[in-house]
Amino acid sequence: MISLNIENIRKELPPQVKLVAVSKFHPVESLLEAMEAGQRCFAESRPQEFAAKYETLHGTRGVPREDIEWHFIGHLQTNKLKFVLPYADLVQSVDSLHLLQAIDSWARTASKTVSVLLELHIGAEQTKQGFVEEEVLDILFRASDYSGVRFCGLMGMATNTDDEDAVRADFARISHFMEYLKDLFPELDSFRELSIGMSDDWRIALGYGATMVRIGTAIFGPRQY
Ligand SMILES: *Cc1c(COP(=O)(O)O)cnc(C)c1O
Repeated sequence: MISLNIENIRKELPPQVKLVAVSKFHPVESLLEAMEAGQRCFAESRPQEFAAKYETLHGTRGVPREDIEWHFIGHLQTNKLKFVLPYADLVQSVDSLHLLQAIDSWARTASKTVSVLLELHIGAEQTKQGFVEEEVLDILFRASDYSGVRFCGLMGMATNTDDEDAVRADFARISHFMEYLKDLFPELDSFRELSIGMSDDWRIALGYGATMVRIGTAIFGPRQY
């Protein structure tokens, strides 16, 4: 089932859009099944679960490190950085200045550069994390202060609703802002990823310049919390 789901999604995805398989709450066997279907990029949202899966796949299961690209997409507390930053190829969910500063200082200490997306708050839900536009601008004007961080673009989650117009409005907002930022900061040449679209709205996101879609349920089935 997992491999069929992946094949079907791939048929509809333009080649330049990366399929990020959101494997949170699913067992390592499911990731291995997805790998057999050619899936290489996985995302997790809980720090300890992320580290444990990384260690199992690349340790016990012997999957070569370079075969998988790991993304982190969950809320990250600064006391959990050690579970995520040594392993993640991209942290998509940088949602506060405090977290950004902590990542930068971890990276400098480790002599590494951490690739990040800034999470823009676009949905209607107050509970969702993320920056507003002004905060993103403030950060990017000072991008060179964060020598441990590579700014790779924006991530956003549309309002969780059946109202397609509301979802389109959210995606239009982040998409326009992304274009504005690329024009304003041409020197940030890594800043080009737009991570929008999940199981229920990725087809819509494709119309708004998504370069990555983050799909969990439509690949792995419902999560057992
Ligand atoms: C869980 C999650 C997803 C995937 O959600 P589905 O609806 O299962 O596709 C995508 N993005 C983020 C940030 C998530 O936390």
